[in-house]
Amino acid sequence: MHYLVITTGSCGNCYIFSTGTDTIIIDDGVTYKKITEKMADHGIPIDTVRALFLTHLHPDHSKGVGVLQRKLGIPVYMSEEARERNESVIMRQKIEMDGIRTFAFGSDIVLPGFTVRPFPTSHDSDGAAGYAFSAEGLNYFLMTDTGLIPDEAWDLASEASVKFIEANYDDEMLRSGPYPEFLKARIYGSRGHLSNAEAVEFARRTSHHGDSVYFVHLSANNNTPELLRNLAGREIPSGIFCRVCERGEMFEGFAG
Ligand SMILES: [Zn+2]
Ligand SMILES: [Zn+2]
Repeated sequence: MHYLVITTGSCGNCYIFSTGTDTIIIDDGVTYKKITEKMADHGIPIDTVRALFLTHLHPDHSKGVGVLQRKLGIPVYMSEEARERNESVIMRQKIEMDGIRTFAFGSDIVLPGFTVRPFPTSHDSDGAAGYAFSAEGLNYFLMTDTGLIPDEAWDLASEASVKFIEANYDDEMLRSGPYPEFLKARIYGSRGHLSNAEAVEFARRTSHHGDSVYFVHLSANNNTPELLRNLAGREIPSGIFCRVCERGEMFEGFAG
């Protein structure tokens, strides 16, 4: 598996997973130009893309979807609830209804090269999802934009060798920072985001020697890569590879 974090954070989120012959994209909050350039630079042919999966419809995850859908003609997967409850956002992002495929939580989606298991997350965007998937005999896990860790995420992450986990804010930076109280409450809340402490604890408890953990979706105002790196370094055993994905940067990895 060859994977790319094209970018992550409130500036945009986009993840690419490719077996070489088949590719899936999770979230597209970047321009078509950026996604195609980065894929070409890293040797992933655009004509191997089989599907796009959306975690939720906030623009930092979905603003590129309409264009990508029209250019590539690929199906766009989201939960039934996400489609039903976000019609105005779907229209605004110019996502074509005909190209949307919905799923119910609890069942697998089988595509060439990939079996994908969506699970519900807890965010202020209805029908939000995280994804666990298997490809070429290895399991992967991606959970971003969630105020709570859903019960089923524990087992799914424990089975995954490569994990992408939101670590949005440092508690102290958010508490003492400049955001108005209502916004702080939203971020802390059960439909907000995960803190560094929550993300690192979750990673520590679900990871085994040889696993890789990528911390993503860091806040620009309420976090620093150093704080997160230090916490992960203290808490997570050295046999687990940890990478803090700085906001707006690109990361590449291989597995299997
Ligand atoms: Zn987001
Ligand atoms: Zn969001």
